[in-house]
Amino acid sequence: MFKKSYNRAFNLKKKKMHIKTGDNVLVLSGKDKGKQGKVLAVSPKENKVIVEGVAIVSKHTKARKAGQEGGIIKTESAMYASKVQLVCSHCGKGTRVAHKIMEDGKKKRSCKKCGEVL
Ligand SMILES: [Zn+2]
Repeated sequence: MFKKSYNRAFNLKKKKMHIKTGDNVLVLSGKDKGKQGKVLAVSPKENKVIVEGVAIVSKHTKARKAGQEGGIIKTESAMYASKVQLVCSHCGKGTRVAHKIMEDGKKKRSCKKCGEVL
């Protein structure tokens, strides 16, 4: 029941994602707090991300084809993007993202801690 209202609140405000696929992120809360991993997928609609090796859940699968075995597979589950922070490749710390406008007018993300463009 808690989860439902939580979901609704998140769906109301669609945020622009600060995390992109392939980013290295730091987990800020939950059982995987402190872990770092690569972002495998993002869902801006849900404001969720899937991070490699984080939020692992067991899924029960059934054999669908002959020769295929059913069983339990471990897979990453989606988690809220607000629970992860981008890891700066320059200073190696989890950081909030600042936006910098480059000389050519392009918007780039940069590290709030060291100012490095990411
Ligand atoms: Zn940095």
